[in-house]
Amino acid sequence: MKIKTRFAPSPTGYLHVGGARTALYSWLFTRHAGGEFVLRIEDTDLERSTQDAIDAIMDGMNWLNLDWDEGPYFQTKRFDRYNAVIDEMLEQGTAYKCYCSKERLEALRETQMENGEKPRYDGHCRDSQCSHAADEPHVVRFRNPQEGSVIFDDKIRGPIEFSNQELDDLIIRRTDGAPTYNFCVVVDDWDMEITHVIRGEDHINNTPRQINILKALGAPVPEYAHVSMILGDDGKKLSKRHGAVGVMQYRDDGYLPQALLNYLVRLGWSHGDQEIFSIDEMKALFTLEAINKSASAFNTEKLQWLNHHYINHMPAEEVAVYLAWHIEQQGIETRNGPELKDIVKLLGERCKTLKEMAESCHYFYQDFSEFDADAAKKHLRPVARQPLEAVRAKLAAITDWTPENVHDAIQGTADELGVGMGKVGMPLRVAVTGVGQSPGMDVTVQAIGQARSLKRIDQALAYIAEREAQA
Ligand code: GLU
Repeated sequence: MKIKTRFAPSPTGYLHVGGARTALYSWLFTRHAGGEFVLRIEDTDLERSTQDAIDAIMDGMNWLNLDWDEGPYFQTKRFDRYNAVIDEMLEQGTAYKCYCSKERLEALRETQMENGEKPRYDGHCRDSQCSHAADEPHVVRFRNPQEGSVIFDDKIRGPIEFSNQELDDLIIRRTDGAPTYNFCVVVDDWDMEITHVIRGEDHINNTPRQINILKALGAPVPEYAHVSMILGDDGKKLSKRHGAVGVMQYRDDGYLPQALLNYLVRLGWSHGDQEIFSIDEMKALFTLEAINKSASAFNTEKLQWLNHHYINHMPAEEVAVYLAWHIEQQGIETRNGPELKDIVKLLGERCKTLKEMAESCHYFYQDFSEFDADAAKKHLRPVARQPLEAVRAKLAAITDWTPENVHDAIQGTADELGVGMGKVGMPLRVAVTGVGQSPGMDVTVQAIGQARSLKRIDQALAYIAEREAQA
């Protein structure tokens, strides 16, 4: 049997981390089995579905590199198909028209509530022989079995049973002729030959209804796996209050998709105590059985730790592709400076996110006319003039501009003046970067370039001279 799974988001908001994790699990399960993955946009709720949300879902899936083999299908484009199935069901008697007025249903509901019963349709039109005009408003209801129960073996939670008596006759077509959500899902899963439905636990209650309809249609019943929810680190349901929950916000904040995927796979799934998984490893090791039944708590620190790991362990060329986007956001022109892969190597250790990296690499590409005030106050003092002049002369004399030769110039200056490296290195750092923190001076100065470094040292010397004049 060919395994086929689907991700079926409703485009009523961003692709949030919960949705992305469900998509990932569905995708991994099918990739593990060499099966197929379907993307289906469940846009039947016309009022709440938006094109922006559809775009955000597609952007998120693309950024995470969760590729699909079929789709995207749109439920709104399949209404004819759903209605054709409903008409067949009416003919076969597995569905019936219900003419109950709103008032009647309202009164029924109130009586049931008063009696402490669960509100449900009482089946008034189920076997009614009353005749109605062809254009009389009605809904279509599914004739749910009244006896027995629905049992399914949830791949994560084990057997789950619902008594049919708890399920009333679900409306499958509204008065305005529109098929309802649960029904569309059933026809889609059937038509798209879905073998495994992996979705959020908020859909558990829909499952017995969907199974009954599938059975009435003579359609195969897929396996089901309901994934637990994600909580914020305060134990409450994850929401906007917990910071970024839209997947693209993580890109904007400087996370690598590889890190987010690794984070999400571990958020509710495990393989021993392994933390780092490449995509290939995830595909090879993923099983539904190893998904946790209990809710998982989101932990931003761990995500940052993973991001730092990926920034430093993925090939720098690959990280650079993602960094380029952030550099662009910063408006930095990189043509006359180090290659981005070198920035990744230089700054990776110091940065948890690519945004941070893009924000702290300006000095490799752009000259500046002001120094960080604190750093300048501390390090560009009159006593720094001599070491700066001396190191400038040595740097100017280098003919082969390598980090080793830059290092020797700094070391040589400190030795000649009989001072520690810091007395030369710190003023030099502030002179060439404008700030008080940077990677090692040899690699930093080398990457900034010879002419640029000398020019910036001159600028720092002018700054010191002005300070001297003012003293
Ligand atoms: N459209 C549903 C949602 O976004 C998912 C339904 C399903 O997977 O069956 O929650």
